[in-house]
Amino acid sequence: MSARAPIAGAALWTAVMGRNDGACTCAAVCGNRHRDSGGVCGRRDAVTVAPRDLGVPLATAVTLSVGELTVWCERCRAAVEAAIRKARREANAADYAADSLF
Ligand SMILES: [Zn+2]
Ligand SMILES: [Zn+2]
Repeated sequence: MSARAPIAGAALWTAVMGRNDGACTCAAVCGNRHRDSGGVCGRRDAVTVAPRDLGVPLATAVTLSVGELTVWCERCRAAVEAAIRKARREANAADYAADSLF
């Protein structure tokens, strides 16, 4: 089992990959400005299908539609997820409870 198994089912995965031409759609959310590729990452290796908003809980992520999913490459996704984890660590328990309403 891979830790990088796609969240989305096979049909969704194919639809999202097809729509985005299998390229990472990160527009500098990861902290990299992607200047070399016109402001959007566009990498096609080590890509995964994941929510546009990587902060959504897995229980929500599995219910998302094609329009709410996009292609992330490993590097961008790791950078964004690390930022989310950092923000969560910094939030206190009360903030965490408020977060879960969304
Ligand atoms: Zn990327
Ligand atoms: Zn990126």
